[in-house]
Amino acid sequence: MTIPLVDLKAQYQTIKHEVLPAIERVLEGMSLYLGPEQQAFEQEFAAYCQSGYGISVSNGTDALALALRACQIGPGDEVITVANTFIATVEAISMVGATPVFIDVDPDTYTMNWHDIEQAITPQTRAILPVHLFGHPAEMTPILEIARTHGLRVIEDASQAHGATYEGRPVGSMGDIGCFSLYCSKTLGAYGEAGVCVTNDADLAERMRMLRDHGSRHRYEHEVMGVNARMDEIQAAILRVKLPYLDQWNAKRQAHAQRYSERLRGVVTAVPEAQPWATHVYYVYVVQVPDRERVRESLAERGILTGVHYPIPLHLQPACAQYGYKQGSLPVTEEAAEHILSLPMYAELTEEQIHQVCDALAGALIPAGTRG
Ligand SMILES: *Cc1c(COP(=O)(O)O)cnc(C)c1O
Repeated sequence: MTIPLVDLKAQYQTIKHEVLPAIERVLEGMSLYLGPEQQAFEQEFAAYCQSGYGISVSNGTDALALALRACQIGPGDEVITVANTFIATVEAISMVGATPVFIDVDPDTYTMNWHDIEQAITPQTRAILPVHLFGHPAEMTPILEIARTHGLRVIEDASQAHGATYEGRPVGSMGDIGCFSLYCSKTLGAYGEAGVCVTNDADLAERMRMLRDHGSRHRYEHEVMGVNARMDEIQAAILRVKLPYLDQWNAKRQAHAQRYSERLRGVVTAVPEAQPWATHVYYVYVVQVPDRERVRESLAERGILTGVHYPIPLHLQPACAQYGYKQGSLPVTEEAAEHILSLPMYAELTEEQIHQVCDALAGALIPAGTRG
């Protein structure tokens, strides 16, 4: 029996009886964009994040780009971020014409190392863009303090951590704007493209609303050059079915992670640990192993599918060559990229499957000479 990295079908089976009527409701109403479902989702998601405003958008990449644009960040501006994230974080910076400045990460949480922020600040710096990676929050208090001291915006990329908290506060609610992808595999995922921004700032909310809909507040009146970045109403209806389950799905992920860690501590080089100030929602469960490619093959032979998030840090990607980074620029990020391994993780994973993964991993890590 194959154990996939993520099993979207398993989740769908548990909510199908609610999803199908929700889709039907939208089609019967035939209000397909910026309609009642989307408005309700914005309010429900903002409330979930304890934020004043929610702005639904077309995907997580657009959420980040619209947030940057709403903060008037553009050509000539620099945005401090990390290189161990999905390319979208940096694509958004590039989309608005700004320049990413990469800093290294903390080796325990894989999130932005705030000690490195100040030395990266230049007269062009406009914002700090931390990523709450793998489901674990970045250390926000010092990031927010440095931003306040230097007059910088903070835009959170919370695309991997819906529902995680930092000192009791939901991710996305602490910076000027929090951005979330709602891509199908995320802890809260649509069945198509979707994303959402949250903010407490009424003006930023209004600007993002305008920008996502062709720079328009009233039909055929265009105040600024915008984009088409609206969420479609069917996705909003699906997300409204899913949102009430998010906390219980996250709780299941946390229970699975605990089970994994109990068995794998001392077996693998590192298991993920939540910091005392954080709750971790384990969007992905990432361990470190020696000789990763051999371990992955060995697991694959036993039908266990794994992932690597991410094998090539962004500063070493051809797409980022223009920014001038080299091997050795970000040692912690580069070191982690060689050893990280993502194990199967989704709410519907069973105890039996977790034991199978752990048995296979323990087997693969016993040095060949000592195998019985
Ligand atoms: C998934 C993801 C995004 C992009 O989201 P899309 O909805 O696919 O555009 C951005 N940042 C991070 C960290 C992500 O994991």
